[in-house]
Amino acid sequence: MKFHIMTLFPEIFEPILHSSILGRGLSQNLFEVELINIRDFSGNKHNRVDDYTYGGGAGMLMAAPPVYDAYQSIRASIAFGETVRTIYLTPQGTPFVQRKAEELSTIDHVILLCGHYEGIDERVLSMIVTDYCSIGDYVLTGGELPAMIVLDSVARLLPGVLSNEDSARFESFHDNLLEYPQYTRPEDFMGQKVPEVLLSGHHAKIEKWRREQSIQRTLDRRPDLLRNASLSKKEKIFLDELQKNTCNTEN
Ligand code: SAM
Repeated sequence: MKFHIMTLFPEIFEPILHSSILGRGLSQNLFEVELINIRDFSGNKHNRVDDYTYGGGAGMLMAAPPVYDAYQSIRASIAFGETVRTIYLTPQGTPFVQRKAEELSTIDHVILLCGHYEGIDERVLSMIVTDYCSIGDYVLTGGELPAMIVLDSVARLLPGVLSNEDSARFESFHDNLLEYPQYTRPEDFMGQKVPEVLLSGHHAKIEKWRREQSIQRTLDRRPDLLRNASLSKKEKIFLDELQKNTCNTEN
């Protein structure tokens, strides 16, 4: 899989591409990243890519031609038949969630378009963008941090990128539940003991405890997720009990 990042600030990405899990994955050729500087396609000697907005108003806008030409240079390198998605990172997009990361991890080429200033001329967006993604209801100065988030969350799902593939399958948002609490040594930290069941070696009991903790945690912190959680009959009863108890303590 290859990520193509369209940006005015390619240097921002260098540290994350050479560190930790992403750095290792890249050096092992488990995926590729191409940084495309939109400024290289400005077509003028001052390398300007922004201009005033028609109709007036504060701020500058990234112009359509350099974005379009940068995009075409990427498309020219993609073989016929390979799957491509072009994501514009924008606060006006659909919230980016784990399900979307999973979907993108199956695509051959993911193009991440980073805006700056007031954003990008609408006409080029309508021509090249397949998905509009937001990383949250707040406004950042540019699309680079959001692009890093998408890159990181998708790359870690690719085969071999995480040393233990189970750690990607059984974590928060799996089954629309948050992950259960976890502990490592020491067994006693300032009087707080690791839950007995985790020391029991009884796998079925540990599994049950973890599922229940996940449900409890999701109810406490992200009850909105529970609407689409996949729960067994017994787990639904467990959740009903928890909800009843919450109502009783609130009344
Ligand atoms: N004027 C735009 C608006 O009101 O929707 C905001 C532009 S913002 C200052 C500049 C760029 O940052 C955007 O083009 C986008 O690429 C990126 N950006 C800002 N906030 C974002 C968010 N929450 N999610 C994804 N991208 C974001």
